[in-house]
Amino acid sequence: MNTQIIGLTTPLMALVFFATFLLLWWRGKMDAYVLGFAASYLFFALGFAATHLLDPTSAYLFHATQALYTAGTVSLLWGATRRINQPLMVGPIVVTYVVAAIVLAIAVAVTDDVAPRLYIVNTSYGVMFAFGALTLLHSRRRELFDILVIGLFVASAINFFIRPVLTLLVEQSIQASDYRESVYYSVLNLALAIMSLMTAMTLVGACVSDLVSSIRDKSDRDLLTGLRNRRAFEADIDDLLDRARHDDVPASLVVADIDHFKQVNDLWGHQAGDQAIANFGKLIQTMVRDVDIVGRIGGEEFCILIWNCPENSAHKLAERIRHAFAQMAHDGISENIHLTASFGVTEWRSGEPYRKLFARADSYLYDAKENGRNKVVSAGKPADRKTGDRTASKLDAEAERAAAAA
Ligand code: GH3
Ligand code: MG
Ligand code: MG
Repeated sequence: MNTQIIGLTTPLMALVFFATFLLLWWRGKMDAYVLGFAASYLFFALGFAATHLLDPTSAYLFHATQALYTAGTVSLLWGATRRINQPLMVGPIVVTYVVAAIVLAIAVAVTDDVAPRLYIVNTSYGVMFAFGALTLLHSRRRELFDILVIGLFVASAINFFIRPVLTLLVEQSIQASDYRESVYYSVLNLALAIMSLMTAMTLVGACVSDLVSSIRDKSDRDLLTGLRNRRAFEADIDDLLDRARHDDVPASLVVADIDHFKQVNDLWGHQAGDQAIANFGKLIQTMVRDVDIVGRIGGEEFCILIWNCPENSAHKLAERIRHAFAQMAHDGISENIHLTASFGVTEWRSGEPYRKLFARADSYLYDAKENGRNKVVSAGKPADRKTGDRTASKLDAEAERAAAAA
């Protein structure tokens, strides 16, 4: 009775983890790799239950458990490799399974001793975990949970290679009918319970950590443009300015605002306006480097902190963005209208807070707006002359046309 209860603890525990992963995937709307973990614990639960409940003298027991444990192992490896975007080595794993299945069939046919069967199946799982660990090592991702998962796969491989050898040193051979009373069986149960518990806890930790990062990432992003929202931009900029001070690196701030945007909304509607904002945000993102940070800090207002860049280079970059935006066509907006934007640019003075830096860039943006829009203004290149506001006159003409047509 006691053995029955202890033997059923492992499959029940595996079922609890199956349910945990399923719930994480479903409620957390997580990627399919979490389903891979769920599937693996379902297969392990069935495998553990089969090991414990099926007749040990039957010829099919080892084939059934081998198929279930292999399915569980493959699902686990698939989930862990997909989690870090690495392809699983399917070919070598299939070959390992097929070779082990053939050798196992021969062993079952020729002897009643289960020891050879145990060597064969355990070695095949060890090889599979070794392939899994190798695949994970290919990735450069090395966060805490990535390291823990690699460590667990290596430990699992060692466990499958060494445990049968050590335990079977004690019992040279085990007849199928005595299998459940063997020392091997007790050690197996204990080892499987500990390994699967440690693996499951680590994988649950990895999933929860992934879920928290994705929620945090979503809360930092502006939905329309995919850029940082104001809060995230201001948090990141503080960190970057600290780094610039520490490394004594120049940095410049660009503030950009689309011209006459109220009229754009009035003429073509809010949806077309949204599309233009999204286009502007994506354009900026493609024109800066990964080390620069970009945020949508207001409706049609964007900020770029350009890392390791003095004012004159930042001014040139802003000019390139201004020019590219003025060439763009936008869905839902008349083809003869080219939207424009105005820019204020300034270099960070070492030690000054972001608030001061922004106020200076914003005052240059104001100058650009006051002096005809569609221009870039900085201390080195002030808005020296007021130009005619071509966007304004075109929008006015468009508004008159719309009014006449109505
Ligand atoms: P200026 O050239 O002086 O910048 O003129 P403007 O009309 O663009 O003036 P301002 O920047 O003050 O107005 C911004 C307008 O942008 C106000 C609001 O109607 C619109 N807006 C703000 N957020 C959004 C948004 O998310 N989507 C859309 N479609 N419009 C927005
Ligand atoms: Mg504007
Ligand atoms: Mg504005």
